[in-house]
Amino acid sequence: MRYHPEMSPTPISTVTFDAGNTLLFCDPSPAEIYAVALSRHGRRVTAGEVEPVFAAAWSDFQERTPTGIDRYNSRPGGEKQWWGAFLREVLSRLEHEADWQPLLEELYAAFSNPQVWKVFPETLATLEGVHRRGLQMAVISNWDRRLPEILDGLGLTGWFQTIVVSAIVGIEKPAPGIFMRALERLDVRPEETLHVGDSPLEDYEGSTAVGMTPVLVDRPGSFAGNGYRRVGSLDEVFNFLG
Ligand SMILES: [Mg+2]
Repeated sequence: MRYHPEMSPTPISTVTFDAGNTLLFCDPSPAEIYAVALSRHGRRVTAGEVEPVFAAAWSDFQERTPTGIDRYNSRPGGEKQWWGAFLREVLSRLEHEADWQPLLEELYAAFSNPQVWKVFPETLATLEGVHRRGLQMAVISNWDRRLPEILDGLGLTGWFQTIVVSAIVGIEKPAPGIFMRALERLDVRPEETLHVGDSPLEDYEGSTAVGMTPVLVDRPGSFAGNGYRRVGSLDEVFNFLG
């Protein structure tokens, strides 16, 4: 937005964060976790074999649900069945013979464990710094119902006034509704809110559309020169807080 001298910009009172690959990441990687579990249930596979298959199945599954619709409730049985269908897709693409049901139980438990989720080195200092400036914070995430437990396990819950999870509110980013839900709960206007996330569509475009100020977390520098307001690390958000 171009600066108009007659308009004084609204000071930022609130910072909302995406969760996955913004505040936290999966370590070992999902492909490694899948490879270990699959190998226990049949033919040995490496993370290197699983990785491209996992990524392709993920993006195909993403396309099957219209943008903004909560994928995890898009089929009977909810998120567990969504993950079951996803797993069957991965197994079939790998031509892997494992029995999917016990494997699903094992994988579902593995990803529920906060220990496979790690915060980025600068996550805590950033949350602390934003808090010290007297701003409120929230999470707005496309995730299944397990996110609050994971955030709890990582000791992050206390930083946030609210945690808005797509599978719980029934709507996904980039749909305006999920951002509006957060703004209502926080009792703030979009103009006073900075949204920080790593997805150009879900986070950047989604938050822009409701009038929030977007910041793209681009750790690998993949989006340089594309006109995004970008940070290479979370602690650079202070540059946008005045
Ligand atoms: Mg993300």
